[in-house]
Amino acid sequence: MDKFLQHYKSFNYEIFFEKLSTSDIENIIKNSGDKILEDLEFLALLSPKASNLLEKMALKANTITEQYFGKEIHIYAPLYISNICDNECSYCGFKHSNPIKRRHLTLEEIEKEAIFISETLGIHSIILLTGESSINSIEYLKNSIKILKKYFSTVIIEVQPLSQEEYNILYEVGLDGVTVYQECYHKETYSKYHLKGNKTDYSYRLETPKRAA
Ligand code: SF4
Repeated sequence: MDKFLQHYKSFNYEIFFEKLSTSDIENIIKNSGDKILEDLEFLALLSPKASNLLEKMALKANTITEQYFGKEIHIYAPLYISNICDNECSYCGFKHSNPIKRRHLTLEEIEKEAIFISETLGIHSIILLTGESSINSIEYLKNSIKILKKYFSTVIIEVQPLSQEEYNILYEVGLDGVTVYQECYHKETYSKYHLKGNKTDYSYRLETPKRAA
């Protein structure tokens, strides 16, 4: 577990929240401008006392978002290239034990889908999705991205968590973004619903955005 997670695992949240006043939180919202918040400033915004200040936070967030992105709406199409999954997440229809028909698209099939989506919908961004399985080798993902980059300006992946080296290989062929759902930030509850496979590793998943970044 990295230092950040280790530190906040043993942090005394009760005392921190008790000492915090509503005006402390208001000052953070008012005076932080658009700078990246310190850990404890961010924690203050997540505190129980901050729940009455949600409107103020929403207005501030809206101002910063518009400052950076304007009134832009980003639309992308999802493309599932494999529903084979080695994991056993109790809530998901793709889980390994579910006897559904499984498909793993060939590179030719992926190209056909890419042509169809780009020509019919005029969408410029695509998110490539798979179940989490060793069948989705880094070579397979790399070649899929290469094909998609011919038809889309932005390619994002939502696949199994990868190592930093693997993200780098995909970045080199044009990967623009990574999506990863943690599903749950309470370790004990997480373990109840993720029963088999690599997704049982709570910390490795939690640290995925850091490796990707
Ligand atoms: S890893 Fe993803 S696709 Fe596989 S069972 Fe879990 S939620 Fe479903």
